[in-house]
Amino acid sequence: MPRKYSIEVIPTPPRHTPIGKFEIERGADCINCGRCAIVCIYEVHKRQEEDLRSMAEPVEYRCKGCFSCIQECPRATLTIREGTDYSRLGDSYWTPEIINTNWYQAETGKIPVSGAGYRGPFSGEGFDSMWTDMSEIVRPTRDGIHGREYISTVVEIGRKLPAIKFDSHGEIVSHIPPTLNVPLPIIFDTLPFGAAKHFDPTFLKFDENVYGAMAKAASDLGTFMIVNAGDGFKSEGHRGQSSHIIPHISDLTSHSFDADWIKACKMVELEYEEDVLSVVNEVKTLNPGSIISVRVPFGDNVEGIVEELTYAGIEVIHLYVDRNGKAVNQTRKKRLLIKDMTQKVHGHLVDLKIRDDVTLIVSGGIAMAEHVAKAIICGADLTAIDLPLLFALECRYCKDCQEDLACPVELKDVNPEWGAQRIINLIGAWRNQLIEILGAMGLREVRRLRGEVGRAIFLEDIEKDTFDKVFARRVSYDAND
Ligand code: SF4
Ligand code: SF4
Repeated sequence: MPRKYSIEVIPTPPRHTPIGKFEIERGADCINCGRCAIVCIYEVHKRQEEDLRSMAEPVEYRCKGCFSCIQECPRATLTIREGTDYSRLGDSYWTPEIINTNWYQAETGKIPVSGAGYRGPFSGEGFDSMWTDMSEIVRPTRDGIHGREYISTVVEIGRKLPAIKFDSHGEIVSHIPPTLNVPLPIIFDTLPFGAAKHFDPTFLKFDENVYGAMAKAASDLGTFMIVNAGDGFKSEGHRGQSSHIIPHISDLTSHSFDADWIKACKMVELEYEEDVLSVVNEVKTLNPGSIISVRVPFGDNVEGIVEELTYAGIEVIHLYVDRNGKAVNQTRKKRLLIKDMTQKVHGHLVDLKIRDDVTLIVSGGIAMAEHVAKAIICGADLTAIDLPLLFALECRYCKDCQEDLACPVELKDVNPEWGAQRIINLIGAWRNQLIEILGAMGLREVRRLRGEVGRAIFLEDIEKDTFDKVFARRVSYDAND
């Protein structure tokens, strides 16, 4: 029996008090009976360590707004209200709930609970217009969720093994393509911001601490981390972790990449340009065993580009959109959503019967664990995440760093060990949620989820089924008038 892959989560408190949803006030009538500490399962209320007779200040950011302490307080002296800073967090995509939930998971490694129930909208656009469907469970692998059975979250990166041919002596004559096993369908992408915009000495600290935390977490989890081979990874310190690092070469014309580094890596990523295949040959000459990923923006003619690259033998294509999960079709001036584009590209490759010749990595707007499952249902093999890694390190998405202003959580000063554990906790919580989804669907491996659109309900389909009939009847009725 192979050793089960598991992620060791360790509670890792924040350095700065997170911005919570609620503010709680303990009034002067408090008699320090401690009833609130008994009823609050989120440990908001505690006694003071130095004087157990008195209650400590509430740890407000942990409050879920369940009102138990308000109801149970014998002196009715607790009040709760929504915090003023909370609603200013993030934006319409990276909502305060998403940021706060990622903070919680990075601190505890636990699956988040909403406490007082979900009170938001039930549909939106993109991933919010699809729901995972567990209504046709044939054999729920609940045992898998609780560890007695194994639900595999392993995915392979590279071309799938073709039918193997042998010669008359029984020797394999087929070319065996290089593949990488990743224990979970998540790799780390380049960071969109966080460091000072212009090069200065703080960049070295950012590199050492933030990238150091990411590199350690990637290595401990057995996954991979994409870093900019040009200007995003200046110190030599992480080269020892090359087996978990994917250098991303964006400037193909200058060919300024470090040959020794490329030789040491298992996978290299190149930005798509028309002459990308000549650079692919260069990299393959330097490191014949490496896997090449080509990074292609979702947009005009993406299906054609993916088809061409797959026929050219590219093993991995990394499709990306902006950080809000959107792209723009320049020709038609139309907004494209990651959910729809992934389905189109996957379907195109299936139609051509070349889907298993290439691995599809999808990134941009992957904000929650459920987005990983949804991207795979739409046809991705795995996802690359960026902003949630920054949230694990307490980023507040204020974007002050983009204006060269001081970071309120001093991101560049994080301790790499502390940061790595926070990222590991986040990924541990995400993986548990993925296992919950797979278990509830009766699936025992995440690879079987790829392209399984029958495992999801799409708002567009429901609206079509409902309203097409209504309006069709109305039209025929009108026609008979
Ligand atoms: S409202 Fe609920 S979660 Fe918040 S402090 Fe009171 S008991 Fe705890
Ligand atoms: S907290 Fe603000 S300044 Fe610091 S990394 Fe995040 S967005 Fe940048």
